[in-house]
Amino acid sequence: MQLADKIRACTLCAEHLPLAPKPIIQLDSEAPILIAGQAPGVRAHQAGKPFADASGDRLRQWLGVNEQQFYNPRLFAIAPMGFCYPGTAQHGDLAPREECAVTWREQVLAALPKRQLTLVLGQYAMAYHLPKRYKTLTAAVQDWHSYWPHTLVLPHPSPRNNRWFKRNPWFEQEILPHLQQRVADLL
Ligand code: SF4
Repeated sequence: MQLADKIRACTLCAEHLPLAPKPIIQLDSEAPILIAGQAPGVRAHQAGKPFADASGDRLRQWLGVNEQQFYNPRLFAIAPMGFCYPGTAQHGDLAPREECAVTWREQVLAALPKRQLTLVLGQYAMAYHLPKRYKTLTAAVQDWHSYWPHTLVLPHPSPRNNRWFKRNPWFEQEILPHLQQRVADLL
């Protein structure tokens, strides 16, 4: 069985999930780009695919790609730190289930031998994928030269972050042109 199929059959932490396990992952060994996010939200759970919302629209715009390219597993691997919707608390979605990355993350990375760029979204992906620790997301994004061109930290593209984008216009002005060029080169 292929790794993606094994993951889709996983029920390891079912007793802790608010809905039935429905691992959301896009994986192909040819993919040069990995999008390492946090965990699917309830809309991704319902749609059965990641970034099927306004966040996805903004992310695709940042990358300079259309939906067809974005959902092509030979171009983009999409593997959050937790593959199933973890539930919601008062201030947003719960953390990805820890056992998910413990069980699957190394195998997922090993299954991407052609990975040349990892796009890191969220504190859990930062903690796993970055060698350095940062006090804030803004500090990690600002320090992008330290891990470019193999890794890039992105703020979450959610409309909930609109205030962050307004306060940090350098992100779109300075970083996105480099990101778009790099993605175009890799595709
Ligand atoms: S979150 Fe991860 S470990 Fe838990 S059931 Fe889903 S795929 Fe398995």
